[in-house]
Amino acid sequence: MSETAKTNGELAHSLDVIIVGAGFGGLYALHRMRGMGLSARVLEQGDDIGGTWFWNRYPGARCDVESMQYSYSFSDEIAQEWEWKELYATQPEIHAYIKFVADKLKLRDGIQLNTKVTSAKFDEKTRRWTVTTEAGETFDARYCIMATGCLSVPLAPDIPGLKEFGGEVFMTSDWPKDGVNVAGKRVGLIGTGSSGIQITPRLAEKSAQLHVFQRTPNYSIPAQNRPLDSNYIDMWKKNYPERRKIARAARNNTMNSPGQRSGTEVTPEQFKAELESRWASGGIGFMYAFTDITTNRKVNEMTSNFVRDKIREIVKDPKKAAILAPSNYPIGAKRICVDTDYFDTFNRENVALHDIKADPIKTMSKDGVVLESGETVPLDILVLATGFDAMTGALNRIDIRGVGGKAMKEKWVDGPRTYFGLMVSGFPNMFIVAGPQSPSVFTNMVTSCEQHVDWISDTVKTLDESGKSLIDAEEKAEDAWVAHVSEIADRSLIIEGVNSWYTGANIPGKPRVITPYLGGAVLYMDKLNQATKNDFEGFRVD
Ligand code: NAP
Repeated sequence: MSETAKTNGELAHSLDVIIVGAGFGGLYALHRMRGMGLSARVLEQGDDIGGTWFWNRYPGARCDVESMQYSYSFSDEIAQEWEWKELYATQPEIHAYIKFVADKLKLRDGIQLNTKVTSAKFDEKTRRWTVTTEAGETFDARYCIMATGCLSVPLAPDIPGLKEFGGEVFMTSDWPKDGVNVAGKRVGLIGTGSSGIQITPRLAEKSAQLHVFQRTPNYSIPAQNRPLDSNYIDMWKKNYPERRKIARAARNNTMNSPGQRSGTEVTPEQFKAELESRWASGGIGFMYAFTDITTNRKVNEMTSNFVRDKIREIVKDPKKAAILAPSNYPIGAKRICVDTDYFDTFNRENVALHDIKADPIKTMSKDGVVLESGETVPLDILVLATGFDAMTGALNRIDIRGVGGKAMKEKWVDGPRTYFGLMVSGFPNMFIVAGPQSPSVFTNMVTSCEQHVDWISDTVKTLDESGKSLIDAEEKAEDAWVAHVSEIADRSLIIEGVNSWYTGANIPGKPRVITPYLGGAVLYMDKLNQATKNDFEGFRVD
C-alpha cells in the first residue's frame, strides 16, 4: 500500500507504520519506510517540522556540533547541495536545512502537523498499534516508531507567585516566532544551562538591564565560531564519505580529534598546553583532550581547574568570577556548555549576576523577583531557560499500553527499562529512536538517529521478507542491558554530586538513574550489530 492511498477521499488511517515526531529521526524514518514501499505517516504536535530545531528558536540558539557534521549522511546529493554558513549553525539555519531536506525528499504530504499523540495501544490479536491524538483521531499500524526526542518536554519551574508577575514571561524552549523586543527593558533570566548560556549575551546586548539568576554554575568552553570559507567547505564535501567514517569510529560519532593518552601520562606543562590548544580551537573537542577526563578524578580535577582559571581570567569582577566558576562538581557531570562570549558578558555594566543558591528566589511579585534576603529585582520581562523533562518525558506523557494493557509509564516507574534504548519488552513492534539507554545525547544526534532508523528499517524489512509480523525484546535481555548501562555509568564521574537531566535529578521526584548509555557509540553499535547478526539475540521474533 502506498502512503498516499486514500479511503473515502481522505488519507489512510490504517498504515504499515506510524511515526511520532517530525524531527531529524522522524523525517528520516518516513523517508526509509517509503523507500521500502510501506505506507507511513508522521504525526507531529508542532505547527512545523524540525522538532528541537523548531521549538528552540531563542536568540543565540545554535548547535554545538560542527555544522559540516551535524547533518544527514545518507544522501551525498543533499550533502553536496546544502551550503552551511558558519562552523556552528544557528537554529534558523538548521531549521532551514531540515525543511530543505523534507522538500527535496518530498516528505511533506506524509506529515500531519498540529497533531499531538495522546495514546498508543497494542492489540495482541491483530498485532497492530492504535494511536490516538488529542483531537480524537485514530490511526492503526503494524509498527509504531517513537521519534519523540530526548529534550522535547520543557520544564516550567515551580516559582511561587509566577502568576502574579506583571511583566511578560517567555521560555527559551517555546520562543515567540516573531521574537521578543527586549530593547530598553529590564530582563531577568533564570537558568544557566546550555540554553541560558547561549541567550545571555544576546539579551545583554539589546536590553537596558539583564539580571541573570544562577542556581548552579556551569563549565563552558568557547565555541570559537566563525563563518565557513569555501576551502573548508570544499575539503569536507570532497571527503565526506571518509570523514563520516572517521566520525562513526569515534565514541561520540563526531570527528573532534580525540586524544590518545591519559592525562596522567603527560607532564603538567604538556597537560596545560594541550588544554590551551583545545580552548583556542573551541567546542566540545576540549573534553576529548585526554582519554580519561570523565573517569580519572585527578585528570578531571586538573581540567576543571583549568576552566575555573579561564573564567577568573575573563571575568574582571572577582566576586562575579567566584560565583560563575563551578567549585563543587567534576567537569562533565553536567552537560558541558559551548558559548560565544558568555563569561565576558558579565563584564558589561548592564549585566547583574544573582547567586540564588546563596540568596534563593522567594517569590515573584507584580514587579519582579523577590529574593529571600528581601531584595526585589524589578523586571519587565522574565526569560525561563529552565530545562527539560529529558529522555523519558515525552514517552511518559503518552499513554502507551503494551501486552496485557500494561502501561509503559508503570513499567518505568523506577526509571526507563529498554533493550538497546530501541525497544521495551512487552511493547512489541514499537521502536524508539535515540531512546533512553542508547548513546543518543552523548553523540552527534543526527548520526545516532540515522543509525537507529537504519536498524529499525532493516529489521522491518527482514521481518516482512521472512513472513514474520512481531518483534519484542526479551525481558532477560532487557534486564542485562539495563544492568550493563548502569555498570558502565558507575565507572564514570559524570553522575557525581550534582543535579542534572542526565539522571533525572533536575526534576523533584523523578527516579535518579543515568538515562543515556555512556559506553560510546562504537561499543554500542558493535553490541547491537552482534545481537542482530546472532539471529536477533535477545529479541523474540514471531
Ligand atoms: P539545563 O541544562 O537543564 O539547564 C536548566 C537550568 O535551569 C539550570 O541552570 C538549572 O539550575 C536552572 N533551573 C531549573 N529550574 C530552576 C528553578 N526552579 N530555579 C532556578 N533555576 C532553575 O537545560 P538547557 O539549558 O535547556 O539544556 C538542556 C540540554 O539541551 C543541554 O544540556 C544540551 O544537551 C541541549 N542543548 C544544546 C544546545 C546546543 O547544542 N548548543 C543548546 C541548548 C540546549 P540547576 O543547574 O541548579 O538545576
